[in-house]
Amino acid sequence: MELKFYNTLSRSLEEFKPLIPGTARMYTCGPTVYNFAHIGNFRAYTFEDILRRTLEYFGYTVTQVMNLTDVDDKTIRDSKAAGLPLDTFTKKYKEAFFDDIKTLKIESAEVYPAATGHIPEMIDLISKLMEKGFAYKASDGCIYFSIAKFEKYGQLARIDRDNQRDGVRISNDEYAKDAVGDFALWKAWDADDGDVAWESPWGKGRPGWHIECSAMSMKYLGDSFDIHTGGVDNMFPHHEDEIAQSEAVTGKKWVNYWLHCEHLMVGNTKMSKSLGNFYTLRDLLDKGWSGREIRWVLIGAHYRKKLNFTFEALKLARETLGKFDEFFKRLRNAKNEGDGASVQDAVNEAKTAFASSMADDLNISMALASLFDLMRNVNRIADENKLDAAGAQTVLAAFRDFDKVIGCFEVDSDKPEEEFPAEVVALAEARAAARKEKNWAESDRLRDEIAKAGYAIKDAPGNVWQLSKI
Ligand SMILES: [Zn+2]
Repeated sequence: MELKFYNTLSRSLEEFKPLIPGTARMYTCGPTVYNFAHIGNFRAYTFEDILRRTLEYFGYTVTQVMNLTDVDDKTIRDSKAAGLPLDTFTKKYKEAFFDDIKTLKIESAEVYPAATGHIPEMIDLISKLMEKGFAYKASDGCIYFSIAKFEKYGQLARIDRDNQRDGVRISNDEYAKDAVGDFALWKAWDADDGDVAWESPWGKGRPGWHIECSAMSMKYLGDSFDIHTGGVDNMFPHHEDEIAQSEAVTGKKWVNYWLHCEHLMVGNTKMSKSLGNFYTLRDLLDKGWSGREIRWVLIGAHYRKKLNFTFEALKLARETLGKFDEFFKRLRNAKNEGDGASVQDAVNEAKTAFASSMADDLNISMALASLFDLMRNVNRIADENKLDAAGAQTVLAAFRDFDKVIGCFEVDSDKPEEEFPAEVVALAEARAAARKEKNWAESDRLRDEIAKAGYAIKDAPGNVWQLSKI
């Protein structure tokens, strides 16, 4: 089955043809480690995880590189505000990032290069750009890339070349399309940088953000590789500038497929701290939601559509995953004898539908629909008492296989029952009922009872609760 992806570069659906048969080399713009990553960031990282897992599902050996931006305008600004050395400040957020991706069952990339560990590679690239005449030193002491010298500038973001104003320079890492101009490759040290500086042939300074990704991707993936991903907000200027720098140095096409993930909205508006709808992963965990519930919501919409995040969606995720848990339990307990023939057609149908949906530009909605269909069909067969143990095992094996991509199912787990004694669950349910009636005294009494039994209870919107051991 051929895999098809929507390539931002051509604005069309294309068959995936890797440079080396059987392997997929991809680069992912990773986090800027100046804060805890928010759920909008994780929408992009879970999309990239689904892409990676799908490539593996179809037999590709994946080499994924995800950078950590640990020096840029924002990390310097906030480390200064915190009164900490840059590396001490970013270390905390690097560690938090790795904890978070584990919680969301995001598979590890093969390499996580940090920008501060690759300054010589960046200086080397800039030197080559200087030699080839694509870069120049300006009166402010910074090195800029001359977009007028690179004919294909604007190919990814589709920028009208007539709007490119020669000689306009931008030293910020981020800027809008209407400010298009020469961008900084190397920033000369100034007082705002404090003690963050490296020696270079052009004096003391630090790299611009864009050159970090060109240097680190080419170091680990070569001059040309298959896939580059990121959020749509990275398309310009970041990815456009990455292409310009890389292709100007090598003279070769840098990346064949560009995949961009759309924004995450919260309650149909843009997530922002001022609107009070800004959530890190940790905020949601603190509210009692689990990693797999959050993951289920984040992967649930097609990556090229805006995802509207709501607490209703989380509640639905809990209910849905609970249904799958029950279903797997039913399958594990199937005892009838037989040859499994009763479920074979349903399993085959689901496998074909699942694979063809994921191969079609990661059509997750269609893929999940095929899993719901399979659950419904098998439950019907079980209701008719036609499910035998062999058939149940076939279905369980199919779900283990689907979960290689989905990463949310607990096919073989009896955890909930083992973890929480029936009497504690009964207390939790009684407490939920008391809360529904706004009987707070009773609710508090039951919370204490639960605590005495050695468990903590957390509430989430919609009268949903979660137990954990104290
Ligand atoms: Zn990047």
